[in-house]
Amino acid sequence: MIQQGNFLLMDRDEFHGWLSKQNVTRNINRLQVHHTASPNYKTRRMVNGAAQQDHFECLEGMRRYHLSEGWSGTGQNITIFEDGKVAISLDRNLNKAPAGIRNANSGAICIEIIGYFDKGNDVITDKQKSTVVHVYASLAEKFNLAINTNHIVYHAWFTYGGTRLADFKPGESSKTCPGTAFWGDGNTVAAAKKNFLPDIQAELDRIKGKNNISEDDQPMTTQEKADFQALQEQVKKLNEQLEQINGRESMDIPAYAKDAVTALSNMKTKEGKPVVDTPTGRSKDFYDVVTVLYRTGFFK
Ligand SMILES: [Zn+2]
Repeated sequence: MIQQGNFLLMDRDEFHGWLSKQNVTRNINRLQVHHTASPNYKTRRMVNGAAQQDHFECLEGMRRYHLSEGWSGTGQNITIFEDGKVAISLDRNLNKAPAGIRNANSGAICIEIIGYFDKGNDVITDKQKSTVVHVYASLAEKFNLAINTNHIVYHAWFTYGGTRLADFKPGESSKTCPGTAFWGDGNTVAAAKKNFLPDIQAELDRIKGKNNISEDDQPMTTQEKADFQALQEQVKKLNEQLEQINGRESMDIPAYAKDAVTALSNMKTKEGKPVVDTPTGRSKDFYDVVTVLYRTGFFK
């Protein structure tokens, strides 16, 4: 994590931890989705997938432009680069409403995705995609937002005056942002529902699953290991004792009881059913009693 000038630059995997420490006092109910259009992969001077332009140079350039427009600081709260790095605008911290969508910034966080994702232009990198879903999922978790088109909104779904449209509509939408080929599908509501929102939901599920496991998945201490081993030993001994008891209880028909058991097995009730269903595998007590009864002539 590097702080320089007006920005804090971090790796994808640093974002969740950083966000968890932020105390955001304003109510957040919308996460805006934007592409920067300019800067883009060309102005970043991509060579073999690596930008030649410095991250901070790019960020300060956007800030200078926004200030020249009369804005109070960098428009967006968060910027996501083509290499997966995340930048936080220190002059537009999360407690400050962004300048992202005219008249629709209250309760919103503005995330700018570096690139120009209209058809025929930049094709988003896998690293950038991975960070984008992680950032939106982390924000949705932090602010308890359901993953749907009420809470995750494309710039293209608003008019220039900030009225929410049912969908991207050329001529009515203020911009094509985040691009007519965004996320491979475009900037419509149907496109968002097809892949972008499910990708965020999957990442949110992963984050939540990881949080749940982490509490129970701590490695055992030495004492806990010793206790666990002792417990296993006890269970093993109990099992052995149980086997012995079972072996004592159930046995083959002893020789002295064979005649008695045969006689008993041939006996029928008034309904014609056998008096004893299972003459084998009984206890010694059973065979003893049967033998005694047989010898006293009780049944023949
Ligand atoms: Zn936009």
